[in-house]
Amino acid sequence: MTNNSPRAVLAGDLSFPTSLPDFQRIFPDERACIDYMVRVRWPAGFVCSICGVKETPLRISTRPRVLRCSACLREASVTAGTVMHRSHSQLSVWFWAAYLVTSMTPGMSAVQFQRQLGLSCYETAFQILHKLRAAMVRPHRDRIGAPFPVEMDETWIGGRTRGEGRGHHHKTLVVGVIEQRKRRKKTEVDGYLSPSKALPRRGGLYAGRLRLGVIADRSAKSLETFALESVQPSTHITTDDWSGYDKLASKGYQLTQVPQRGDPDVTEAWLPLIHLAFGNLKTWLNGIHHGVSPQHLPAYLNEFTFRFNRRFYPFNAFRSLLGIVAETEPTTYQALYDKASASLPVGNKAQV
Ligand SMILES: [Zn+2]
Repeated sequence: MTNNSPRAVLAGDLSFPTSLPDFQRIFPDERACIDYMVRVRWPAGFVCSICGVKETPLRISTRPRVLRCSACLREASVTAGTVMHRSHSQLSVWFWAAYLVTSMTPGMSAVQFQRQLGLSCYETAFQILHKLRAAMVRPHRDRIGAPFPVEMDETWIGGRTRGEGRGHHHKTLVVGVIEQRKRRKKTEVDGYLSPSKALPRRGGLYAGRLRLGVIADRSAKSLETFALESVQPSTHITTDDWSGYDKLASKGYQLTQVPQRGDPDVTEAWLPLIHLAFGNLKTWLNGIHHGVSPQHLPAYLNEFTFRFNRRFYPFNAFRSLLGIVAETEPTTYQALYDKASASLPVGNKAQV
């Protein structure tokens, strides 16, 4: 495997791998993962939460995840409060899983994961992936958009028609909005992650944050409800001339409607990013998971959105999947980002 970018992204004093060789170097074994957790939880050194004494804790060889206060002998677990707590799997397995889930495109099935990690038990692989996927759902997601303009469109997902005539049998309608960002200089993303991941477009246009949702139909009510839940007021929305979008201007948005009529040049000029996202989504759903049933689609949309929106910030994705939040760290995602942003290129501020 070639490794053109061996540097690790720094976040605080904890390095994060940008490649598989990096990952192996930083987390070579179980002890390295445990030590990482210790540094995350107690960045300024272990402090007993019971008696407050700050002294080198005692370690128990048979229970490496436990630190024991040398003064009061109370125990603290390095995994408390994380998805790994009380898991029988090694932390190194969890770390690998979170790294692979956040960095691999396009995602991974439980069978692939089981093979990659050499796990003997499929059920273990399935449960770990299931828990990591559950962490991809944020109940109170921020609305995207302003100051960035967004593209909005809808698409049919899944359900190949077999002998039922033309139409959208067994298909599910998915609506999406995506931010249009502009890179000011070519170098802004360079030095952080592969520039190809920035999805470069004409004039430096690239995709910011994405929101996807399942809707029952193309009615104005369905589309407006999704817009109001997902897009900041006053955002400039570009969409097609479907009548269901006509009233968005009266809902507090600036609206540009472009007749698409299936013309690829129009799509490329006005709605390139949302169509790119839809294309990636369909490739992922069909290629990896061989299609997804409608009842499971919302969860997969969440997973796709989570990974898409964090593709520049694998470190944050990795930690938020594992449920690792250091006690000294800000609790909101935006605050976490602000802390890390000092070393990040400008122009890529949002990553939620
Ligand atoms: Zn103590």
